[in-house]
Amino acid sequence: MSIFEKLESNVRSYCRSFPVVFDRAKEDLLYAEDGRAYIDFFAGAGALNYGHNNDYIKERILDYLTSDRIMHGLDMYTMAKREFIQSFSERILEPKKLNYKLQFCGPTGTNAVEAALKLARKAKKRTGIFAFMGGFHGMSLGSLSATSSKSMREGAGLPLDGVTFIPHPSGAFAEMDTLGYIENILNDSHSGVDKPAAILLETVQAEGGIHVADVKWLRGLQQICRKHDILLITDEIQVGCGRTGEFFSFERAGIEPDLVTLSKSISGYGLPMSLLLLKPELDLWTPGEHNGTFRGNQLAFVAAKAALEFRDRADLEEQVKQKEEFVRSFLDKEIKPLHPSITIRGIGLIWGIDVSGFTDEAGAKRMSEISFEKGLIIERAGRGDLVLKIMPPLTVSMENLAAGCNIIKSSILQV
Ligand code: PLP
Repeated sequence: MSIFEKLESNVRSYCRSFPVVFDRAKEDLLYAEDGRAYIDFFAGAGALNYGHNNDYIKERILDYLTSDRIMHGLDMYTMAKREFIQSFSERILEPKKLNYKLQFCGPTGTNAVEAALKLARKAKKRTGIFAFMGGFHGMSLGSLSATSSKSMREGAGLPLDGVTFIPHPSGAFAEMDTLGYIENILNDSHSGVDKPAAILLETVQAEGGIHVADVKWLRGLQQICRKHDILLITDEIQVGCGRTGEFFSFERAGIEPDLVTLSKSISGYGLPMSLLLLKPELDLWTPGEHNGTFRGNQLAFVAAKAALEFRDRADLEEQVKQKEEFVRSFLDKEIKPLHPSITIRGIGLIWGIDVSGFTDEAGAKRMSEISFEKGLIIERAGRGDLVLKIMPPLTVSMENLAAGCNIIKSSILQV
Protein backbone atom coordinates (compact mmCIF):
# COMPACT_ATOMS: atom_id res chain seq x y z
CA MET A 1 0.00 0.00 0.00
CA SER A 2 1.44 3.40 -0.96
CA ILE A 3 1.74 6.28 1.48
CA PHE A 4 -1.06 7.97 -0.47
CA GLU A 5 -3.46 5.09 0.09
CA LYS A 6 -2.36 4.79 3.68
CA LEU A 7 -2.56 8.44 4.68
CA GLU A 8 -4.35 10.54 2.07
CA SER A 9 -8.12 10.82 2.39
CA ASN A 10 -10.18 8.49 0.29
CA VAL A 11 -11.78 11.50 -1.44
CA ARG A 12 -8.80 11.86 -3.78
CA SER A 13 -9.96 11.19 -7.32
CA TYR A 14 -7.74 12.21 -10.25
CA CYS A 15 -4.97 9.93 -9.02
CA ARG A 16 -7.35 7.05 -9.66
CA SER A 17 -7.66 7.99 -13.33
CA PHE A 18 -3.91 8.52 -13.72
CA PRO A 19 -2.32 6.03 -11.33
CA VAL A 20 1.36 6.97 -11.51
CA VAL A 21 3.45 9.33 -9.42
CA PHE A 22 4.28 12.44 -11.45
CA ASP A 23 7.59 14.11 -11.05
CA ARG A 24 8.04 16.90 -13.57
CA ALA A 25 6.25 18.62 -16.39
CA LYS A 26 7.20 20.79 -19.32
CA GLU A 27 4.89 22.57 -21.72
CA ASP A 28 2.34 19.97 -22.87
CA LEU A 29 4.00 16.93 -21.30
CA LEU A 30 3.96 15.42 -17.82
CA TYR A 31 6.61 12.94 -16.75
CA ALA A 32 6.09 10.13 -14.27
CA GLU A 33 8.79 9.22 -11.75
CA ASP A 34 9.95 6.42 -14.06
CA GLY A 35 10.58 9.05 -16.76
CA ARG A 36 7.62 8.12 -18.97
CA ALA A 37 6.11 11.11 -20.79
CA TYR A 38 2.36 11.74 -21.05
CA ILE A 39 0.72 14.22 -23.40
CA ASP A 40 -1.51 16.49 -21.36
CA PHE A 41 -5.09 16.91 -22.62
CA PHE A 42 -6.24 17.90 -19.14
CA ALA A 43 -4.21 21.05 -18.41
CA GLY A 44 -4.79 20.96 -14.66
CA ALA A 45 -8.56 21.13 -15.29
CA GLY A 46 -8.00 24.39 -17.15
CA ALA A 47 -5.39 25.88 -14.80
CA LEU A 48 -2.50 25.49 -17.23
CA ASN A 49 -3.55 27.27 -20.41
CA TYR A 50 0.03 28.51 -20.85
CA GLY A 51 1.57 25.07 -20.40
CA HIS A 52 3.59 23.55 -17.60
CA ASN A 53 6.56 25.57 -16.36
CA ASN A 54 6.21 28.15 -19.08
CA ASP A 55 9.70 29.64 -19.45
CA TYR A 56 8.59 33.24 -19.90
CA ILE A 57 6.45 33.17 -16.75
CA LYS A 58 8.99 31.13 -14.80
CA GLU A 59 11.73 33.70 -15.37
CA ARG A 60 9.59 36.47 -13.88
CA ILE A 61 8.70 34.28 -10.91
CA LEU A 62 12.36 33.46 -10.31
CA ASP A 63 13.36 37.13 -10.52
CA TYR A 64 10.76 37.92 -7.92
CA LEU A 65 11.70 35.03 -5.63
CA THR A 66 15.39 35.86 -5.61
CA SER A 67 14.91 39.49 -4.64
CA ASP A 68 13.21 39.18 -1.23
CA ARG A 69 10.10 40.99 -2.37
CA ILE A 70 7.01 40.86 -0.19
CA MET A 71 5.42 37.40 -0.19
CA HIS A 72 2.27 37.94 1.81
CA GLY A 73 0.22 41.06 1.81
CA LEU A 74 -3.44 40.25 2.61
CA ASP A 75 -5.12 42.99 0.57
CA MET A 76 -2.51 45.67 1.22
CA TYR A 77 -1.20 47.66 -1.70
CA THR A 78 1.88 45.97 -3.15
CA MET A 79 3.89 46.64 -6.24
CA ALA A 80 3.17 43.17 -7.60
CA LYS A 81 -0.56 43.77 -7.26
CA ARG A 82 -0.33 47.22 -8.82
CA GLU A 83 1.58 45.86 -11.79
CA PHE A 84 -0.95 43.09 -12.34
CA ILE A 85 -3.94 45.44 -12.11
CA GLN A 86 -2.30 47.87 -14.52
CA SER A 87 -1.47 45.12 -16.94
CA PHE A 88 -4.96 43.58 -16.76
CA SER A 89 -6.48 46.97 -17.40
CA GLU A 90 -4.19 47.80 -20.34
CA ARG A 91 -4.11 44.40 -21.98
CA ILE A 92 -7.64 43.15 -21.36
CA LEU A 93 -10.18 45.69 -20.15
CA GLU A 94 -9.23 48.77 -22.17
CA PRO A 95 -8.80 47.13 -25.59
CA LYS A 96 -12.11 45.35 -25.12
CA LYS A 97 -13.78 48.52 -23.78
CA LEU A 98 -14.95 46.63 -20.70
CA ASN A 99 -15.76 48.54 -17.56
CA TYR A 100 -15.14 46.37 -14.49
CA LYS A 101 -13.59 46.75 -11.08
CA LEU A 102 -11.46 43.91 -9.73
CA GLN A 103 -11.89 42.04 -6.49
CA PHE A 104 -9.36 39.43 -5.41
CA CYS A 105 -11.32 36.74 -3.68
CA GLY A 106 -9.01 34.04 -2.43
CA PRO A 107 -6.93 31.19 -3.70
CA THR A 108 -9.39 29.15 -5.71
CA GLY A 109 -12.27 29.37 -8.13
CA THR A 110 -15.03 28.65 -5.69
CA ASN A 111 -13.98 31.74 -3.70
CA ALA A 112 -14.86 33.96 -6.66
CA VAL A 113 -18.21 32.22 -7.14
CA GLU A 114 -19.05 32.63 -3.45
CA ALA A 115 -18.20 36.32 -3.65
CA ALA A 116 -20.35 36.77 -6.76
CA LEU A 117 -23.35 35.04 -5.16
CA LYS A 118 -23.01 37.02 -1.94
CA LEU A 119 -22.62 40.32 -3.74
CA ALA A 120 -25.62 39.64 -5.99
CA ARG A 121 -27.79 38.94 -2.95
CA LYS A 122 -26.64 42.15 -1.31
CA ALA A 123 -27.11 44.23 -4.45
CA LYS A 124 -30.59 42.99 -5.26
CA LYS A 125 -31.81 42.22 -1.74
CA ARG A 126 -33.09 38.87 -2.96
CA THR A 127 -31.86 35.48 -1.86
CA GLY A 128 -32.64 33.28 -4.85
CA ILE A 129 -30.23 32.34 -7.61
CA PHE A 130 -31.00 30.67 -10.93
CA ALA A 131 -28.32 28.27 -12.15
CA PHE A 132 -28.29 25.83 -15.03
CA MET A 133 -28.78 22.10 -15.02
CA GLY A 134 -25.41 20.54 -15.78
CA GLY A 135 -23.45 23.54 -14.54
CA PHE A 136 -20.49 23.25 -12.21
CA HIS A 137 -19.34 26.10 -9.98
CA GLY A 138 -17.28 24.63 -7.16
CA MET A 139 -17.47 22.62 -4.00
CA SER A 140 -17.98 25.09 -1.14
CA LEU A 141 -21.55 25.38 0.08
CA GLY A 142 -22.74 28.35 -2.01
CA SER A 143 -21.09 27.19 -5.23
CA LEU A 144 -22.21 23.62 -4.65
CA SER A 145 -25.77 24.83 -4.13
CA ALA A 146 -25.55 26.17 -7.69
CA THR A 147 -24.08 22.93 -9.03
CA SER A 148 -26.70 20.43 -10.13
CA SER A 149 -24.76 17.14 -10.11
CA LYS A 150 -26.45 14.72 -7.73
CA SER A 151 -23.28 12.90 -6.74
CA MET A 152 -21.46 16.14 -5.95
CA ARG A 153 -24.39 17.49 -3.96
CA GLU A 154 -24.48 14.28 -1.96
CA GLY A 155 -21.07 15.26 -0.61
CA ALA A 156 -22.82 17.99 1.37
CA GLY A 157 -24.66 15.34 3.35
CA LEU A 158 -27.85 17.33 3.74
CA PRO A 159 -29.99 19.07 1.12
CA LEU A 160 -28.78 22.37 -0.30
CA ASP A 161 -31.20 25.12 -1.15
CA GLY A 162 -31.57 28.66 -2.43
CA VAL A 163 -31.02 27.80 -6.08
CA THR A 164 -33.54 27.06 -8.83
CA PHE A 165 -32.12 24.99 -11.66
CA ILE A 166 -33.20 25.95 -15.13
CA PRO A 167 -32.57 24.02 -18.35
CA HIS A 168 -29.43 24.76 -20.34
CA PRO A 169 -30.05 24.70 -24.11
CA SER A 170 -28.21 21.42 -24.55
CA GLY A 171 -28.63 17.67 -24.29
CA ALA A 172 -32.21 16.70 -23.55
CA PHE A 173 -33.22 20.38 -23.65
CA ALA A 174 -31.51 21.26 -26.92
CA GLU A 175 -34.80 21.59 -28.77
CA MET A 176 -36.64 23.33 -25.97
CA ASP A 177 -37.37 27.07 -25.87
CA THR A 178 -35.31 27.48 -22.72
CA LEU A 179 -35.42 31.28 -22.83
CA GLY A 180 -39.20 31.17 -23.12
CA TYR A 181 -39.28 28.83 -20.16
CA ILE A 182 -37.21 31.23 -18.03
CA GLU A 183 -39.41 34.17 -19.07
CA ASN A 184 -42.50 32.21 -18.16
CA ILE A 185 -41.19 31.36 -14.70
CA LEU A 186 -40.41 35.03 -14.11
CA ASN A 187 -43.71 36.33 -15.49
CA ASP A 188 -46.04 33.77 -13.97
CA SER A 189 -47.11 34.78 -10.48
CA HIS A 190 -48.15 31.16 -9.95
CA SER A 191 -44.75 29.70 -10.87
CA GLY A 192 -43.92 29.42 -7.18
CA VAL A 193 -40.44 30.78 -7.84
CA ASP A 194 -39.37 34.17 -6.53
CA LYS A 195 -37.38 36.51 -8.71
CA PRO A 196 -33.71 35.68 -8.21
CA ALA A 197 -30.87 38.08 -7.48
CA ALA A 198 -28.81 36.61 -10.31
CA ILE A 199 -28.53 34.01 -13.04
CA LEU A 200 -25.25 32.10 -12.89
CA LEU A 201 -24.01 30.73 -16.19
CA GLU A 202 -21.11 28.97 -17.87
CA THR A 203 -21.30 30.04 -21.52
CA VAL A 204 -19.61 26.72 -22.21
CA GLN A 205 -20.50 24.07 -19.69
CA ALA A 206 -17.21 22.29 -19.13
CA GLU A 207 -17.63 19.69 -16.38
CA GLY A 208 -21.20 19.35 -17.62
CA GLY A 209 -20.02 17.72 -20.87
CA ILE A 210 -18.84 20.55 -23.18
CA HIS A 211 -22.06 22.28 -24.08
CA VAL A 212 -21.55 25.51 -25.98
CA ALA A 213 -24.42 27.98 -25.64
CA ASP A 214 -25.03 29.78 -28.89
CA VAL A 215 -24.60 33.47 -29.41
CA LYS A 216 -28.25 34.26 -30.00
CA TRP A 217 -29.26 32.42 -26.86
CA LEU A 218 -26.63 34.25 -24.79
CA ARG A 219 -27.90 37.60 -26.03
CA GLY A 220 -31.46 36.55 -25.25
CA LEU A 221 -30.48 35.57 -21.73
CA GLN A 222 -28.82 38.93 -21.14
CA GLN A 223 -31.97 40.65 -22.39
CA ILE A 224 -34.11 38.69 -19.94
CA CYS A 225 -31.77 39.60 -17.09
CA ARG A 226 -31.90 43.29 -17.98
CA LYS A 227 -35.65 43.29 -18.46
CA HIS A 228 -36.28 41.69 -15.07
CA ASP A 229 -33.52 43.52 -13.17
CA ILE A 230 -31.59 40.29 -12.50
CA LEU A 231 -27.79 40.23 -12.46
CA LEU A 232 -26.00 38.03 -14.98
CA ILE A 233 -22.94 36.24 -13.61
CA THR A 234 -20.73 34.36 -16.04
CA ASP A 235 -18.38 31.80 -14.60
CA GLU A 236 -15.22 31.99 -16.70
CA ILE A 237 -13.16 29.91 -14.31
CA GLN A 238 -12.61 27.01 -16.70
CA VAL A 239 -13.22 28.47 -20.14
CA GLY A 240 -11.84 31.98 -19.65
CA CYS A 241 -8.26 33.15 -20.25
CA GLY A 242 -8.30 32.36 -23.96
CA ARG A 243 -9.68 28.81 -23.91
CA THR A 244 -12.48 29.59 -26.39
CA GLY A 245 -10.29 31.68 -28.70
CA GLU A 246 -11.07 34.94 -26.94
CA PHE A 247 -9.97 36.02 -23.49
CA PHE A 248 -13.53 35.80 -22.11
CA SER A 249 -15.89 33.17 -23.39
CA PHE A 250 -18.78 35.67 -23.37
CA GLU A 251 -17.07 37.98 -25.87
CA ARG A 252 -18.25 36.03 -28.88
CA ALA A 253 -21.84 37.04 -28.05
CA GLY A 254 -21.00 40.68 -27.41
CA ILE A 255 -22.69 40.49 -24.04
CA GLU A 256 -21.43 42.19 -20.88
CA PRO A 257 -22.23 40.25 -17.72
CA ASP A 258 -22.60 42.18 -14.46
CA LEU A 259 -20.24 39.88 -12.61
CA VAL A 260 -17.52 37.61 -14.00
CA THR A 261 -15.58 34.97 -12.10
CA LEU A 262 -12.03 34.02 -13.05
CA SER A 263 -9.49 31.64 -11.55
CA LYS A 264 -7.47 28.62 -12.76
CA SER A 265 -5.38 30.02 -15.65
CA ILE A 266 -5.56 33.66 -14.59
CA SER A 267 -2.27 33.21 -12.72
CA GLY A 268 -0.75 31.41 -15.69
CA TYR A 269 1.41 29.05 -13.71
CA GLY A 270 -1.00 26.95 -11.71
CA LEU A 271 -0.68 29.34 -8.78
CA PRO A 272 -3.69 30.03 -6.58
CA MET A 273 -5.69 33.11 -7.43
CA SER A 274 -9.30 34.01 -8.04
CA LEU A 275 -10.73 37.20 -9.29
CA LEU A 276 -14.19 38.67 -9.47
CA LEU A 277 -14.91 41.35 -12.06
CA LEU A 278 -17.77 43.58 -11.08
CA LYS A 279 -19.56 46.43 -12.74
CA PRO A 280 -18.58 49.60 -10.86
CA GLU A 281 -22.11 50.17 -9.58
CA LEU A 282 -21.88 46.79 -7.82
CA ASP A 283 -18.91 47.84 -5.72
CA LEU A 284 -21.18 47.82 -2.69
CA TRP A 285 -19.25 46.13 0.05
CA THR A 286 -17.85 48.32 2.78
CA PRO A 287 -14.19 47.67 3.70
CA GLY A 288 -13.84 44.32 5.41
CA GLU A 289 -17.35 43.16 4.61
CA HIS A 290 -15.92 40.34 2.51
CA ASN A 291 -12.52 39.41 3.84
CA GLY A 292 -9.94 36.65 4.03
CA THR A 293 -6.22 36.04 4.52
CA PHE A 294 -5.20 34.76 1.10
CA ARG A 295 -6.74 37.33 -1.19
CA GLY A 296 -3.54 38.48 -2.73
CA ASN A 297 -0.91 35.88 -3.47
CA GLN A 298 2.03 38.01 -4.57
CA LEU A 299 3.63 35.26 -6.59
CA ALA A 300 0.34 34.72 -8.38
CA PHE A 301 0.19 38.45 -9.22
CA VAL A 302 3.69 38.26 -10.69
CA ALA A 303 2.84 35.15 -12.69
CA ALA A 304 -0.53 36.56 -13.78
CA LYS A 305 1.08 39.69 -15.16
CA ALA A 306 3.70 37.63 -16.98
CA ALA A 307 0.94 35.39 -18.36
CA LEU A 308 -0.82 38.38 -19.90
CA GLU A 309 2.46 39.48 -21.51
CA PHE A 310 3.11 35.96 -22.77
CA ARG A 311 -0.43 35.78 -24.19
CA ASP A 312 0.19 38.89 -26.29
CA ARG A 313 3.71 37.92 -27.38
CA ALA A 314 2.59 34.44 -28.46
CA ASP A 315 -0.59 35.75 -30.10
CA LEU A 316 -2.16 32.93 -28.18
CA GLU A 317 -5.77 33.45 -29.11
CA GLU A 318 -4.84 33.34 -32.80
CA GLN A 319 -2.99 30.08 -32.13
CA VAL A 320 -6.13 28.70 -30.46
CA LYS A 321 -8.18 29.45 -33.56
CA GLN A 322 -5.73 27.51 -35.75
CA LYS A 323 -5.59 24.55 -33.38
CA GLU A 324 -9.37 24.61 -33.09
CA GLU A 325 -9.58 24.07 -36.84
CA PHE A 326 -7.30 21.04 -36.58
CA VAL A 327 -9.30 19.46 -33.73
CA ARG A 328 -12.65 20.19 -35.34
CA SER A 329 -11.57 18.60 -38.60
CA PHE A 330 -9.93 15.59 -36.90
CA LEU A 331 -13.03 14.88 -34.85
CA ASP A 332 -15.24 15.26 -37.92
CA LYS A 333 -13.18 13.09 -40.22
CA GLU A 334 -11.56 10.56 -37.90
CA ILE A 335 -13.74 10.22 -34.81
CA LYS A 336 -17.32 10.73 -35.96
CA PRO A 337 -17.15 7.93 -38.56
CA LEU A 338 -16.16 5.44 -35.83
CA HIS A 339 -19.78 5.11 -34.76
CA PRO A 340 -23.03 6.65 -36.06
CA SER A 341 -24.04 7.78 -32.57
CA ILE A 342 -20.84 9.60 -31.61
CA THR A 343 -21.41 13.32 -31.20
CA ILE A 344 -18.75 15.98 -30.91
CA ARG A 345 -19.05 19.45 -29.42
CA GLY A 346 -16.69 22.23 -28.61
CA ILE A 347 -15.08 25.56 -29.29
CA GLY A 348 -11.51 26.82 -29.20
CA LEU A 349 -9.48 24.23 -27.36
CA ILE A 350 -12.20 22.58 -25.32
CA TRP A 351 -13.89 19.67 -27.07
CA GLY A 352 -16.00 16.75 -26.04
CA ILE A 353 -16.50 13.38 -27.68
CA ASP A 354 -19.86 12.12 -26.44
CA VAL A 355 -19.86 8.33 -26.47
CA SER A 356 -23.13 7.94 -24.53
CA GLY A 357 -24.93 6.67 -27.64
CA PHE A 358 -22.95 3.46 -27.88
CA THR A 359 -21.24 2.66 -24.61
CA ASP A 360 -21.72 2.94 -20.86
CA GLU A 361 -19.70 4.54 -18.08
CA ALA A 362 -17.39 1.54 -17.88
CA GLY A 363 -16.74 1.76 -21.63
CA ALA A 364 -15.91 5.46 -21.47
CA LYS A 365 -13.68 4.87 -18.46
CA ARG A 366 -11.90 2.13 -20.38
CA MET A 367 -11.27 4.57 -23.24
CA SER A 368 -9.51 7.03 -20.95
CA GLU A 369 -7.60 4.19 -19.27
CA ILE A 370 -6.38 2.89 -22.62
CA SER A 371 -5.44 6.43 -23.63
CA PHE A 372 -3.41 6.73 -20.45
CA GLU A 373 -1.67 3.42 -21.13
CA LYS A 374 -0.76 4.84 -24.55
CA GLY A 375 0.65 8.03 -23.04
CA LEU A 376 -2.26 10.51 -22.99
CA ILE A 377 -3.92 12.19 -20.04
CA ILE A 378 -7.58 12.75 -20.83
CA GLU A 379 -10.45 13.25 -18.40
CA ARG A 380 -14.15 12.65 -18.82
CA ALA A 381 -17.08 14.95 -18.18
CA GLY A 382 -20.85 15.16 -18.41
CA ARG A 383 -23.67 13.01 -17.14
CA GLY A 384 -22.30 9.56 -16.33
CA ASP A 385 -18.82 10.76 -17.32
CA LEU A 386 -19.61 9.75 -20.88
CA VAL A 387 -17.85 12.57 -22.66
CA LEU A 388 -14.12 12.41 -23.40
CA LYS A 389 -12.81 15.88 -22.78
CA ILE A 390 -10.04 17.35 -24.92
CA MET A 391 -8.50 20.31 -23.08
CA PRO A 392 -4.75 20.64 -23.71
CA PRO A 393 -2.70 23.69 -22.74
CA LEU A 394 -3.33 26.37 -25.37
CA THR A 395 0.38 26.20 -26.14
CA VAL A 396 0.18 22.50 -27.09
CA SER A 397 2.41 21.70 -30.06
CA MET A 398 0.67 20.63 -33.28
CA GLU A 399 2.65 17.40 -33.08
CA ASN A 400 1.37 16.48 -29.62
CA LEU A 401 -2.13 17.70 -30.46
CA ALA A 402 -2.22 15.31 -33.40
CA ALA A 403 -0.58 12.48 -31.44
CA GLY A 404 -3.10 12.86 -28.60
CA CYS A 405 -6.05 12.87 -31.01
CA ASN A 406 -4.76 9.70 -32.67
CA ILE A 407 -4.43 8.00 -29.28
CA ILE A 408 -8.08 8.82 -28.55
CA LYS A 409 -9.10 7.32 -31.88
CA SER A 410 -7.27 4.06 -31.25
CA SER A 411 -8.64 3.89 -27.69
CA ILE A 412 -12.23 4.23 -28.92
CA LEU A 413 -11.56 1.52 -31.49
CA GLN A 414 -10.31 -0.83 -28.79
CA VAL A 415 -13.47 -0.64 -26.66
N1 PLP B 1 -16.42 27.09 -11.84
C1 PLP B 1 -16.07 26.33 -12.87
C2 PLP B 1 -16.71 26.57 -14.20
C3 PLP B 1 -15.13 25.31 -12.72
O1 PLP B 1 -14.82 24.53 -13.75
C4 PLP B 1 -14.54 25.13 -11.45
C5 PLP B 1 -13.55 24.05 -11.24
O2 PLP B 1 -13.42 23.13 -12.00
C6 PLP B 1 -14.93 25.96 -10.40
C7 PLP B 1 -15.87 26.94 -10.64
C8 PLP B 1 -14.35 25.80 -9.04
O3 PLP B 1 -13.00 26.14 -9.01
P1 PLP B 1 -12.07 25.56 -7.87
O4 PLP B 1 -12.02 24.09 -8.06
O5 PLP B 1 -10.74 26.20 -8.12
O6 PLP B 1 -12.66 25.96 -6.58
